[in-house]
Amino acid sequence: MYLPQELIRRKRDGGALNDDEIRWFVTGIKDSSISEGQVSAFAMAVYFNGLTLDERVALTLAMRDSGDVMHWSDLNGPVLDKHSTGGVGDLVSLMLGPMVAACGGYVPMISGRGLGHTGGTLDKFESIPGYNTYPDNDLFDRAVREAGVAIIGQTGNLAPADKRFYGIRDVTGTVESIDLITASILSKKLAEGLDALVMDVKVGSGAFMPTPEKSRALAESIVRVANGAGVKTTALLTDMNQVLALSAGNAVEMAEAVAYLRGDHRDPVVHEVTMALCAEMLVSGQLADSIEAARRQLQSVLDSGAALEAFQRMVTLLGGPSDFTDRPDDFLPKAPIIQPVIAARDGIVQPLQVRDIGLAVVAMGGGRTRADQKIDAAVGLTDIVRPGVTVRAGDVLAMAHVRNEAQLADTRQRLTQAIPIDEQAVAAQPVVHDRIGPEDLD
Ligand code: URA
Repeated sequence: MYLPQELIRRKRDGGALNDDEIRWFVTGIKDSSISEGQVSAFAMAVYFNGLTLDERVALTLAMRDSGDVMHWSDLNGPVLDKHSTGGVGDLVSLMLGPMVAACGGYVPMISGRGLGHTGGTLDKFESIPGYNTYPDNDLFDRAVREAGVAIIGQTGNLAPADKRFYGIRDVTGTVESIDLITASILSKKLAEGLDALVMDVKVGSGAFMPTPEKSRALAESIVRVANGAGVKTTALLTDMNQVLALSAGNAVEMAEAVAYLRGDHRDPVVHEVTMALCAEMLVSGQLADSIEAARRQLQSVLDSGAALEAFQRMVTLLGGPSDFTDRPDDFLPKAPIIQPVIAARDGIVQPLQVRDIGLAVVAMGGGRTRADQKIDAAVGLTDIVRPGVTVRAGDVLAMAHVRNEAQLADTRQRLTQAIPIDEQAVAAQPVVHDRIGPEDLD
């Protein structure tokens, strides 16, 4: 038994807490025996003074253990997952889960809803009629075992201490602590019972972290803490100065993901990021000896249709149509108006204001401004132009999928601002900026 104010005082003065003290404090966060004022004072002390690596690992594990932790016995392959800090047109999870499953991994992916300007994997799956995003434990377990992948939503008992802690941080100006973000993200991911994890940390105008330096610092912190907690983890820093996919929205991204798995169309930027993240997972999970070997395996499960089959098996097991991938267009909701947004002048497309493009989708109803809002799965953007492309006045910058004329006018106005066109050449940027593994950190 400790006194909360004594622990807070120690953090305020730059001291460190031991594992027992942190576990006790986290129990108090979970059962509300520690007051909101005390939790927020603790968060502010951490915001200014930080946590040592040992403290970050202890906080992560204590928050993980505050709720259900999955255990996967008798599987004949490693349990793997990916987490992204979130982006616009970030549909990677939709393909990555089935691709890794088809290579012998098991992917029990707990995903989230759209937050702010970014889309959410869960919302994308809800565009499939009948797909159960909140199955009971038995069905989730069966889907993971039989399809190799199940992508579902977070139930109430996954890291409940983080849920309360995050809610308090959100209203006390303490979200932006890299140490607290690390523990928050990892407590939920590690509750999945993983052998290995890959982290996709976005960099650029649509990224959650405000600067490239902070994106790198978060990636390094996550790699250190997750490995410190015993889960082999690497991170990629990937580009968010462009919309990742050619589309942004829910049903439109689902359609692009199915087209990718079917081989109808694979955008090179999407392909590069997806392959790079999947390859990290296969190597960390010891399903491949090298990144090159992993890429060959991944290409072969795309070419053979095995990844598409894993996706369809997951959809069927979770209640979606058994022929969804044969004719996705017959099932996905469609917006009544599909009209172009055109370039107002000749020139070169500059790096995009990706956050504003995400907000344009939110404004159409494709995302939320409040957590309890329903979204419109049908609306969004497709055919979004890439930076560096030369356009002429009248060329299509994107296709807007909207409900009404007012939304179309609003979208056109927002996108004209968010897709700058100028004379300057735009240097080609790598889409994967860097990789950080535990061996890169001292
Ligand atoms: N996402 C999380 O899950 N936690 C944070 O603290 C920030 C982003």
